[in-house]
Amino acid sequence: MSRSLKTAVIGAGVAGLAAARELRREGHEVTVFEKTDHLGGTWSYEPRTDSDPVGVDPTRETIHTSLYFSLRTNLPRQLMGFLDYPFPDREKGDLRTFPGHEEVLWFLMKFAEEFGLRELIRFETEVVRVERVEGMSESESWVVESRNRDSLLSRESFEAVVVCSGHFTQPRVPTIPGIEKWPGYQIHSHNYRVPEPFRGQVVVIIGFGASAFDISRDIARVAKEVHIATRSSDVRVIKLANHGNIWQHTMVKCVSEDSLVEFVDGSSVYADVMFYCTGYRYHYPFLETNGVVSVEDNRVGPLYKHVFPPAFSPWLSFIGIPEKDIIFQTTDLQCKWVARVLSGKVLLPTEEEMMTSIEEYYQQMDKNGIPKHLTHHLHFKEMGYSNWLTAESGLPPVEDWREEMYVESLRNINGMQDNYRDQWDDAHWKEIIRDASLRKNVI
Ligand SMILES: Cc1cc2nc3c(=O)[nH]c(=O)nc-3n(C[C@H](O)[C@H](O)[C@H](O)COP(=O)(O)OP(=O)(O)OC[C@H]3O[C@@H](n4cnc5c(N)ncnc54)[C@H](O)[C@@H]3O)c2cc1C
Repeated sequence: MSRSLKTAVIGAGVAGLAAARELRREGHEVTVFEKTDHLGGTWSYEPRTDSDPVGVDPTRETIHTSLYFSLRTNLPRQLMGFLDYPFPDREKGDLRTFPGHEEVLWFLMKFAEEFGLRELIRFETEVVRVERVEGMSESESWVVESRNRDSLLSRESFEAVVVCSGHFTQPRVPTIPGIEKWPGYQIHSHNYRVPEPFRGQVVVIIGFGASAFDISRDIARVAKEVHIATRSSDVRVIKLANHGNIWQHTMVKCVSEDSLVEFVDGSSVYADVMFYCTGYRYHYPFLETNGVVSVEDNRVGPLYKHVFPPAFSPWLSFIGIPEKDIIFQTTDLQCKWVARVLSGKVLLPTEEEMMTSIEEYYQQMDKNGIPKHLTHHLHFKEMGYSNWLTAESGLPPVEDWREEMYVESLRNINGMQDNYRDQWDDAHWKEIIRDASLRKNVI
């Protein structure tokens, strides 16, 4: 028999919307708490930024999204939809294979409308505390405390809590020798929107991910010089081909009071701006678990398969934690799994078995020399993870072309080819997808 639970979902971004749909499909009662006045999370562009541009002051006013105005997806649209609800070609919409962020928000709004999810969302209601209530029966055992737009606090009991609050809002900032006396302006990519404030400036960008790539090109249109510092030790200082004002360096070694920035390769530059494209931290300020679930060196743990803390399973779960993967796809599959586990259709292993599995995963990471802060990076293992989730949830495996397309997308991103988005061989991929769907229909 299927079990129906009173469930709280925290956040109305990709994860929260997908969770709300799946939980309701499974017959659960769903309330989505969303601290802003809109859905879409990261994909809802906001010109305003945090009151502290580096994002380290704990008392700062925080804006959730990290989108910059020019952002286009770094995965092709075929990988930006849910498995049973693909990203469509909208008439008069942004039909590019790598569309701008407005198109993704439009897609999420359409998804929410189509599945009647808006009515489940309490907007402008921030969850400030989630705590398990001891001594009660198994059901109704989580208290969710929230604050609404009038700052009124309310407490409500739920049988299960699904955390979908995102993890691209709290900046990770490196420590640079001398930075406390360096007189320039510092900013984290979380607070970047448009290039104009950097007109005529000499900007040092730290980082080599997708954001550093995009932002360096965006800013170089108006800046005097852009210097990209990367951790990679085999990089020698070079001016990038096709760019008159972008240089690549090794990591920043130190900075000094006279604005000088020295790189490990021995080169140096007097700079106006230090720009951190150095990623984000997982952060769950509302969660009270007496240390049962913690974030250490960017490892959220212990989590069975990046979702369930064994001690609280299945009543507490986290969606969307994995990084470096096909986010919409894994998020969708995690939601399907969680919804079925909560309804009792799918069983989890025992708490001890889940802990053993987590320990084995950590040991495997150690053996392969993968640092702790990369615990949730799936890298090229994402199809294994996706298909583990499909198998657990009783669903067919995901189509092979998705992995092939993802690998090709990563190659493009890592290849750092300017205009990689517009050089994508769309016709080739459309043919592969068509063939795959024909084969599926024949089978
Ligand atoms: C610059 C940038 C570019 C990206 N580009 C891509 C891309 O091209 N392709 C891709 O697939 N992914 C991309 N991503 C990843 C992107 O974050 C995911 O696609 C997706 O938005 C994650 O959804 P989420 O629901 O997990 O989190 P979010 O989108 O962050 O949503 C979380 C929601 O929770 C709400 N919330 C948080 N705390 C609380 C609280 N205490 N109470 C109530 N509500 C709360 C927030 O307001 C927000 O609405 C990008 C991310 C960034 C930062």
